[in-house]
This record gives sequence, C-alpha cells and structure tokens, in this order.
Amino acid sequence: MKAACIKCWNPDALVTMDLDGSALFRCSECEEEFTRDDVRGALEAVQRGWSRLLAWADAYPQAEPETTATT
Ligand SMILES: [Zn+2]
Repeated sequence: MKAACIKCWNPDALVTMDLDGSALFRCSECEEEFTRDDVRGALEAVQRGWSRLLAWADAYPQAEPETTATT
C-alpha cells in the first residue's frame, strides 16, 4: 500500500521525499510539502476522528450507518 498524501489524500498521488537533507515529503498531485511530524499529527487526527465514528457506528448494530465524513 502506498503512503497517501496527508494534504489531498489522493491514493494515486505519488509522495516523494526530498533528498536534500530537509527530509520533507512532497506530493506530486497537490504540490504540498510536509514533514514527518506533519504526517504523524495528521494520522493521529484521522485515527481520533475515525475512532469516534467507529464507536458511534458500533453503537448502532442494526442500522446501516449512512454518514458523510465532513472532515
Ligand atoms: Zn497531495
């Protein structure tokens, strides 16, 4: 599985790492640059958001959860 860009989340975007010592990641799709800490923070936020949504969905075992992710 490829590492998705934390800015545009495009699964087809190619994320490369700058090799000039800055260790910045760069997305070929949205042209955004981000650091390793940015990635960790973004993934944490995603996990936090999802764990809430999953907990909510688990509380409704009968219903087909129809939610629109807004964030
Ligand atoms: Zn991107």
